[in-house]
Amino acid sequence: MKSLWNDNEASRCESELDLRVYSSRLLGSDPSLALHGGGNTSVKITEPDLFGEAEEILYVKGSGWDLATIESAGFTPVRMAHLLKLAQLDFLSDNEMVNQLKTHQTLASAPTASVEAILHAVLPYKYVDHTHADAIVTITNTEDGEARIRNLYGDRLVVIPYVMPGFDLARMVAERFPREAHEGTLGMVLMNHGLFTFGDNAQVSYERMIRLVDEAESYLRTQNAWELVPTAEETEIDSQSIATLRRSISDVAGFPVILQSHRTEAEMSFCQRPDLAEISQRGPATPDHVIRTKQLPMLGNEVMDYVLAYQQYFEAYAGNARTPVEMLDPAPRVVVDPVLGMLSVGKNSREADIVADIYRHTMEIIQRAESLGGWQALPARDIFEVEYWELEQAKLRKAGATAPFQGEVALVTGAASGIGRACVESLLNRGAAVVGLDLDSAIAYQHDSTAFLGITCDVTDSQAIVSALQQTVLRFGGLDMLVLNAGIFPGGCPVAELTSETWRQVMQVNLDANLQLLRESYALLKQAPTGGRVVVIGSKNIAAPGQGAAAYSASKAALNQLARVTALEWAGDGIRINSLHPDAVFDTSIWTEEVLAARAAHYGLSVDAYKKRNLLKTEITSR
Ligand code: ZN
Repeated sequence: MKSLWNDNEASRCESELDLRVYSSRLLGSDPSLALHGGGNTSVKITEPDLFGEAEEILYVKGSGWDLATIESAGFTPVRMAHLLKLAQLDFLSDNEMVNQLKTHQTLASAPTASVEAILHAVLPYKYVDHTHADAIVTITNTEDGEARIRNLYGDRLVVIPYVMPGFDLARMVAERFPREAHEGTLGMVLMNHGLFTFGDNAQVSYERMIRLVDEAESYLRTQNAWELVPTAEETEIDSQSIATLRRSISDVAGFPVILQSHRTEAEMSFCQRPDLAEISQRGPATPDHVIRTKQLPMLGNEVMDYVLAYQQYFEAYAGNARTPVEMLDPAPRVVVDPVLGMLSVGKNSREADIVADIYRHTMEIIQRAESLGGWQALPARDIFEVEYWELEQAKLRKAGATAPFQGEVALVTGAASGIGRACVESLLNRGAAVVGLDLDSAIAYQHDSTAFLGITCDVTDSQAIVSALQQTVLRFGGLDMLVLNAGIFPGGCPVAELTSETWRQVMQVNLDANLQLLRESYALLKQAPTGGRVVVIGSKNIAAPGQGAAAYSASKAALNQLARVTALEWAGDGIRINSLHPDAVFDTSIWTEEVLAARAAHYGLSVDAYKKRNLLKTEITSR
């Protein structure tokens, strides 16, 4: 690990706070130090208050900010004098602590200060840097972790035993640190949690962090506990088990979840370790990772057993938790299985991404700690407390309370243009994860969102459909909504001249492909946590066909009957099927300028009059 400090860049900083932003970003740029909002930093600045009197202020990372991208607005100014007074209390509840932080900040619009603000305040240094460095977490999560840390660093670091982050930890540090720190103290290790460094200027504090973590990494190398050599057997992808698992987890959570599969060689190698059942039981690497990574191995694909086992874990500890049980959802966030691989759970795909990133680091930490002499995490009770911590729960609830289709998965065909594209946008805006299929390869890049998967796909290619559904399940865990939109409209052609080839081509796209999509989706739609839904884009031509559109009108009429019969057959499975019959929607790829001109001429209208041939004289768009 190397220092990224650059004197040129640092010299451009105009204030102590700017320097704080600069070196915080350096820390945040390395995911092995500060992953997804992990870690926090601060600087103490004396500045005049409104009355011109000097006051010492702690600028500490505000909640909701990530060190990698933090700006000065991400640091919350809090009155030092009050923080130091709080540290003297015997007890402070989580809620009261947050209230005190909020009411003693000097800028009302700043975010709520980090729950580690009091801890930053009691360390008597101008700059304080704190990370959950993987290498430190690895060493401290072994049986003789404390002895190893003391051997490695001598008396350069103060060592604090594990205490849950928040007031209790700050209070312990306030008591112990002044007794144990001396001239040569460079930092402080929190067992099973992370590392603090500090200094009179930003560079010293930052570079101490880099140096100390580098020593920890070198130590792991010398102990042959660094290099990981993945070996994994290939396993079949089992879409149905994944969809069933997602359904079970959603049922336990009480809302639909996204379930992402992760099957790289490194991930499969961890999941196929013979000791998986044991090493995966010991909880997350650091209690400060805000998302539950407690997980259980799902050996032998016994989906319900897995979920029940997790529920037992939940019930064993929920009764005595700091957070009231009714505020908790008892769903796990990570599943590991030798066949299915690593699966991450989230209220939406972004959350599932974050869980996966965190667990990837956790897998490395566990394996390195095993090589070092044995991975040992905290007791289950401590892990439960932090995984279901009220303060973090509130944050997650806020992050995802809004969108109506949150956690649900939709697939739209013909998604690159017209009605399909409008459906994709609308579904994404309402929180769904969306898979878009289209012949046009631009579909792959159509939306820059982790909630969107664009697949180039010819819907008449039955292998391509099977593959697209499999990709849907691997990426999001299942399928809840299907929008059958792809269709073609060949130019007007009277029946007397209609070739069988054109007829078959239209039937293949508008009818046969939709039969296959329905058939292959059925098992997945049955597992939809809130009931499967299918929307069939029909046509006004079913009820009122026009001359020259025999193939199109016949295909849509047949599709309509297919949808009606399917609705009869699938109602018992809770799957709803609705058909929508658009008329005169012209901003679609079917309606090229030539087709539009020809149809307008056919009715003896101008193109503009043809587009607005409705009672309101309004152009109707896909949206
Ligand atoms: Zn921390």
